[in-house]
Amino acid sequence: MTAPLSFTRELNPDPLPTEQREAALASPGFGKVFTDHMIVIDFDEARGGWHTARLCPRGPLRLDPAAAVLHYAQEIFEGLKVYRHDSGRLALFRPEANAARLNASARRMAMPTLPEHLFLQALGELMEVDGHWFPAVSGGSIYLRPFMIATEAFLGVRPARQYKFIVIASPVGGYFKSDAPAVSLWVSRQHVRAAPGGTGAAKTGGNYAASLIPIAEATEHGCDQVVFLDAVERTWVEELGGMNLFFVLADGRVITPPLTGTILPGITRDSLITLLRDEGVAVAEEPYSIDRWRADAGSGVLSECFACGTAAVVTPVGSVLDGEQRFTIGDGAPGPLTKRLRERLTRIQSGSAPDPYGWVTQLG
Ligand SMILES: *Cc1c(COP(=O)(O)O)cnc(C)c1O
Repeated sequence: MTAPLSFTRELNPDPLPTEQREAALASPGFGKVFTDHMIVIDFDEARGGWHTARLCPRGPLRLDPAAAVLHYAQEIFEGLKVYRHDSGRLALFRPEANAARLNASARRMAMPTLPEHLFLQALGELMEVDGHWFPAVSGGSIYLRPFMIATEAFLGVRPARQYKFIVIASPVGGYFKSDAPAVSLWVSRQHVRAAPGGTGAAKTGGNYAASLIPIAEATEHGCDQVVFLDAVERTWVEELGGMNLFFVLADGRVITPPLTGTILPGITRDSLITLLRDEGVAVAEEPYSIDRWRADAGSGVLSECFACGTAAVVTPVGSVLDGEQRFTIGDGAPGPLTKRLRERLTRIQSGSAPDPYGWVTQLG
């Protein structure tokens, strides 16, 4: 393992002027505004691993055109939010889980793992310098995007020997203005996201590339998001392009598809399972078929359905379009359990409710 690394700081000599920053932060949207700095840590097998950890001005990367990431897609990423508590302090939600998942993704993509303390230190270092980019809008946060790319210039097919781990930060607005509206889903029958033995459980860009055509198809059919079925039987409901799914039955039970290797293990998914079970709700991690979904929605056995992920937290699903057939869940509006869970989780994240699970890490 590498010797302890400390971060050097090269401050941006030309940060965005205050007026322009404040204008950008008044309505940041999602993923369009970036802070003045970034974190970079290099990996070189020949130098014994990770070296040269630094905070530096955010800017274009110098990359050899033969860099392995550009040809064979050795790339993984994470996504997590920085919250501001009433005390004014910044906080992260379960960042150790993101560090662990980055390493799980790294192993699947034949990339080096990053010591978890370096991952956490990198986030703290970036927020120490760029924390003043926190947007003043309600529900706003700073979305952190840690990622790793293979930088070695080599066209042979084998794991690269050089990498960069980078963290950029993007101030974002509340995903939804007030209560999250219910979304409509398009069932992808032609395309799948992930197959058994593939990379579905890794947070890697290629999975997203594979989802772009089905997302466009959803849009063409007037739907908000795409939902994927399993690749083998085209029967079992898996997840959306970037969110996990939950089904709430009228008898109070909750079902979410199991983590069999084709589904991304969401940290929001895991947190909601914990919250539900602590409330005494039975949560089954078991396969749920598209036919059952349609039947349960029609008969009223299914009362609510929601998707979840870091960016949009908990998103109610109102209706599903499968070819020509459309079915509505409940009355098509956000259900009570969906709303309550969203509220519970966001209150823990923002520090306005107690944190009995030790999920919150304060920065600074
Ligand atoms: C990131 C992601 C999720 C949600 O994970 P969270 O940790 O809850 O943000 C779900 N599905 C896919 C495909 C993802 O990439």
